[in-house]
Amino acid sequence: MANIDELSAAQIAAGVASGQFSAVEVAQASLSAIEAREPQVQAFLQVSADLALAAAQKTDAARAAGEKLGPLAGVPVAFKDNMHLLGTRTTCASRMLQNYESKFTATAVQRLLDAGATPVGKTNMDEFAFGSSTESSAFHRTNNPWDTERVPGGSSGGSAASVAAGEVPVTLGSDTGGSIRQPASFCGVVGMKPTYGAVSRYGVVAFGSSLDQVGPFGRSVADVALAMNALVAAGHDPYDSTSQDCPVDFLEHLEDPIEGKTVGVIPSLMEAEGLTAEVKAGIEAAEKALRDQGANIVEIELPNMASSIAAYYVIGPCEAFSNLARFDGVRYGYQEPGCKTLAEQTSLSRAHGFGAEAKRRQMMGAYLLASGVYDKYYYPAQQVRTLITQDYVNAYKRCDVILMPSAPRTAFKFGEISDPTQMYLSDMYTISNNIVGNGGISVPLGLGADSGMPISAQLQGPAFCDRKLLQFARAIERGFEGRAKVAPAFAGKGGEL
Ligand code: GLN
Repeated sequence: MANIDELSAAQIAAGVASGQFSAVEVAQASLSAIEAREPQVQAFLQVSADLALAAAQKTDAARAAGEKLGPLAGVPVAFKDNMHLLGTRTTCASRMLQNYESKFTATAVQRLLDAGATPVGKTNMDEFAFGSSTESSAFHRTNNPWDTERVPGGSSGGSAASVAAGEVPVTLGSDTGGSIRQPASFCGVVGMKPTYGAVSRYGVVAFGSSLDQVGPFGRSVADVALAMNALVAAGHDPYDSTSQDCPVDFLEHLEDPIEGKTVGVIPSLMEAEGLTAEVKAGIEAAEKALRDQGANIVEIELPNMASSIAAYYVIGPCEAFSNLARFDGVRYGYQEPGCKTLAEQTSLSRAHGFGAEAKRRQMMGAYLLASGVYDKYYYPAQQVRTLITQDYVNAYKRCDVILMPSAPRTAFKFGEISDPTQMYLSDMYTISNNIVGNGGISVPLGLGADSGMPISAQLQGPAFCDRKLLQFARAIERGFEGRAKVAPAFAGKGGEL
């Protein structure tokens, strides 16, 4: 009939609801696409075929009983492996949690399941979400479907690559400093970081608790909006005190025209060191697409944005250090055998359980929080956070959303960036939004003229204006309709429905 990679999540849900195909047939198609494509992409850490088929059977039984199906009925989904899902391990791509069985299911995951989705597995990531290339996974690399010699971005690299390879239409990732938007950009898919608090963090292994936010990947803006609806539908989660009621239908105004609305652009960001000519050309094309649909373009400034990476690499490691202190070789995860004292057990379990980047972050955090050092770095970093927040408040007095790149360049080759500080610059356009807690979305524009790899535009919006963000993202998408949505080398492999 069709290949699973040609169908949107909305089409799958409609097809299941109308009886065009069963949820079990869809699950089998996704599992067969995974089987055929995984050897080349390696996006998954675990494939949960049993869970998928059980959930799909439940959906089919509900339909047979005449029950109303959820908006994601039968839609195969996968989750970054820092999200708990009962019946799977939650490894965070770390040896520390290699055998850790989920004790419960994260709220964000549960909400997709409640909407009828079929869970097909857990995706690869940078260890504990530290990174921008998925190279720090303790288990294996994930290849970019557009060129398997290149990284998929990170830290949610498996979630982005799986969607770009057409294995599943929707996945979840987490974004602490860009980890949804940057891999979405590298893999040519849509990736959204909602406003902090829009989606519950309960059951997501914490990295930076004031920065982390869960969000969806999809091949279209509409599929991301559909997933967002499921994520917020049940409102505030009592298990995450920072989660808010967000009673919004993200699909309702998706097709509304943007005529007369205002898009802010930041000239200095377009001259930034490291921004490649092809990405710059892409953003100019996105700006033109918005202008052609009647948007006004205004120049704005975020004077303190340049300090956001510095502030993030103080605040992020400090929060990571306190969050990862729980992995003590006693209560959680890897336990070094044969130790004689508790101190030895803790120290060796951590030494052998964590990889290099996870250690670097925690050592940075330990140092930055030390007495005498704290006042010099942590406190000023929080003051910088306030300044950047004020910059955004001022900017949004003049525009509805801000347009900028998602990443300064397209996907790089494995091993190409070995200096950690160079890697940190991958997030120069995304981090400020995590610092202030606003929403952001990466929208694919097609392939760059020089690298032949996907390029994307990023839209940022004021807090809890995520619906507006999706509406503008849809407007950009409209300007680039011809782009391939699944990487050609993977399209049509397995996955017959
Ligand atoms: N790449 C950034 C980092 O390494 C962001 C990671 C993330 O958002 N999880 O911290």
